[in-house]
Order: sequence, then structure tokens, then C-alpha cells
Amino acid sequence: MSSKSSSQFSTFKDCLARRLISTTDLDGPEGSDDPLDEFTSYLASEVWPALPDTLYTASYESLSSDTVLQEMASDPFYISLDAIPIPTSFFDTLTSYTHFEDAHDCIRFLRKVLSDYLTEATAPPPVWKQTRGEKCEICERGWVRLTYHHLIPRSVHGKVLKRKWHTESMLNSVAWLCRPCHSAVHHVASNEDLARYFYTVDLLLERDDIQAWKKYASKQK
Ligand SMILES: [Zn+2]
Ligand SMILES: [Zn+2]
Repeated sequence: MSSKSSSQFSTFKDCLARRLISTTDLDGPEGSDDPLDEFTSYLASEVWPALPDTLYTASYESLSSDTVLQEMASDPFYISLDAIPIPTSFFDTLTSYTHFEDAHDCIRFLRKVLSDYLTEATAPPPVWKQTRGEKCEICERGWVRLTYHHLIPRSVHGKVLKRKWHTESMLNSVAWLCRPCHSAVHHVASNEDLARYFYTVDLLLERDDIQAWKKYASKQK
């Protein structure tokens, strides 16, 4: 998959997962560690390549210039799913592991997911200054002075846009970190890697070294 659409794909996958957990009797394939994750990843990667191109680049910026996207965002029925070659594996899998009875149920479900996806993908960016909480977002200490870390470091903004790693509205996303945690973040990865792979606090916290640091830092006075 091209990097152009990878963040949109993960948004789509999350929307799918959220709709799946609200369907009543999801079994998931047997013997899997994390049925929701495996099931969602499989379904999302089956159906995503079949969707209209406009969906892959859906963003707050493209909404203002793309009239097809505007139609889709205001009316999920605008996407004519009958004309799309949705793989039969998508229907087969959904009907085996949920109470969905037929392709109609699956299509109805997919429409809801796409509607959630369009709302999320085209939402205006948050005003980052207002995301400041009381605590450092890594060590969770509340009595320390907070600094803001550009999750996509400014020195690589040009490259980020050229390579389409993120949309322009993402560039000013910040995390509020205490000074020691802020330094730790810059210590574990280069600006380019931060921008490409660790552009949210959650992604940073998936790293073992940041977890080890967090454990240490949270105990410091
Ligand atoms: Zn901290
Ligand atoms: Zn920083």
C-alpha cells in the first residue's frame, strides 16, 4: 500500500473496528489472540482496495476542492456500492462471524463504516493549543512544567508534504510533555522517524524504550 493512503487506511480500519464491536455477536476466528484486531485487519484490507479513489485522499483540505467527496460526505448513499467489485471474501467473512444474514446486511454495515470514515477523515484539525492537559502526556506527572513537542518536527515538514506522509492539517499537531520526557523522545528517534512512524503519543508509547522511560520518569520528583 502506498504511504499516500496509509493514514486514511488506519482511520478506515478504526471505524470498522468500532462498528464491529457494536454488532452483537461477533465471534472472531478461533484461536486468535486478538480476534477484533485480526478480524478487522483482514476485513479492512479485503475491502479497502475496491473502494473509490476519492476515499483514499479524503481529508479536511480535499473536502473544500473535491465535489465528489462533498457529495459522499453529505450522503453515504452517493457511493454506489453496487458498482464496486467488493470481494466475496468480505461478505463471506462477515456473514460467518456475525449475525449478518446476507450481502444486503453487509452492504448496510459497510455504508455505516464509510459514513463514519468520511466524517472522521474530513474533520477539521483540532486547535492544538487547546489540547493542553494538566499532565505530561508520557510520564503523567502533573506538577511539572509542560513544553510542547511537534509530533511532526518542523525541520521535516517540507519532506513530509512532498512525500505525502501526512496532510497539511496534521503538521501542527503537538504533544504536551515535560522537559525530561521531551528530551527522551528526541533521543530515541530521528526527526524523520518521529514524523513518519511516531507522530502520535500512542505510537510513541508503543515503543519499549519509551515505556521503560515512562516507568522511570513517573517515579521522579
Ligand atoms: Zn514527562
Ligand atoms: Zn520535540
